Amino acid sequence: RRMKVRANAETPNDARVARDFGAEGIGLCRTEHMFFEADRIIAVREMILAEDKKGREAALAKLLPMQRSDFEELFRVMSGLPVTIRLLDPPLHEFLPHSDEEIGEVAKSLGVDAAKLKDRAQKLHEFNPMLGHRGCRLGVSYPEIYEMQVRAVMEAACTVAKETGEKVTPEIMIPLVAKREELSILKERVDAVALAVLKENSTRLDYLVGTMIELPRAALTADEIAKDAEFFSFGTNDLTQTTFGLSRDDSAAFLPDYLRQGIFERDPFVTLDPDGVGALIKIAAEKGRSTRPDIKLGICGEHGGDPDSIRFVEGAGLDYVSCSPYRAPIARLAAAQAKLEKSQDDSTA
Ligand code: PEP
Ligand code: MG
Repeated sequence: RRMKVRANAETPNDARVARDFGAEGIGLCRTEHMFFEADRIIAVREMILAEDKKGREAALAKLLPMQRSDFEELFRVMSGLPVTIRLLDPPLHEFLPHSDEEIGEVAKSLGVDAAKLKDRAQKLHEFNPMLGHRGCRLGVSYPEIYEMQVRAVMEAACTVAKETGEKVTPEIMIPLVAKREELSILKERVDAVALAVLKENSTRLDYLVGTMIELPRAALTADEIAKDAEFFSFGTNDLTQTTFGLSRDDSAAFLPDYLRQGIFERDPFVTLDPDGVGALIKIAAEKGRSTRPDIKLGICGEHGGDPDSIRFVEGAGLDYVSCSPYRAPIARLAAAQAKLEKSQDDSTA
């Protein structure tokens, strides 16, 4: 095999499974999954529904130790291997309370009126949330959320590095970037917090800051984006969604028509579309490397565990695939077969 195989995992249990199945690191830790846990959802809701920065910061202070201990556990399990941690990605309304009982609970904990809170929750409604206030756009509007997460990552990394004596390499990943400016602004904040934590802990430790490439604009301007990104991870779920303009949550209803009529040979959310989405990946890889020859390139969408997509990714010369822990053995085999096929093709060419 030439490519590394990593896993998409958030919980220590999934990380352990991934390691046992031969994963060589975590390629995607979706931090929002950590926000849904019963013991912290109230604090998350407080953060979202807070009226101002001060209120948000009070809620974030409650979340910091919880996130820190999540990351510590992850770094312990993955000791010595790289861990890519993606900062908050989904639109905030996904975390909102729905029932009156849940709204009452948050109102009580925030010390505000339930009706007022309900009103505020309704204001967060979006007509097209997948193209709305999500990904790095949250970080642009509410930088303190990302700052809390980066602090938690770096403090956890310092603790585990000291404790185990092993190398801990956090890779901090910014989602849904379309313009270099989004990344530049956020990277500056990430670096400021990361360096402050390292100084406070008198620790030296390498960390990377990179981005997901999951929007066509990002792929087409990857040379610009690479000026601020030390790695790219192709988020092929969103990249497929945005390239086709096809909702990943709604397409199942009409996909069978497309398959039956031969418009799609395969479900593009399962097997990477080589001609469109794949072309964008190749362009982005080439442009990224033209700016930063040693840029690390991976893929972390569902396609990372699909053998045909892995064959494509080998051909595009990416450095790793990241997939569900349970698919890591298949991905390892598929990556090895893809490499063999490619070298046979190259030698006959
Ligand atoms: C992606 O878009 O491919 C991705 C990995 O991110 P998510 O599935 O969490 O949107
Ligand atoms: Mg995505």
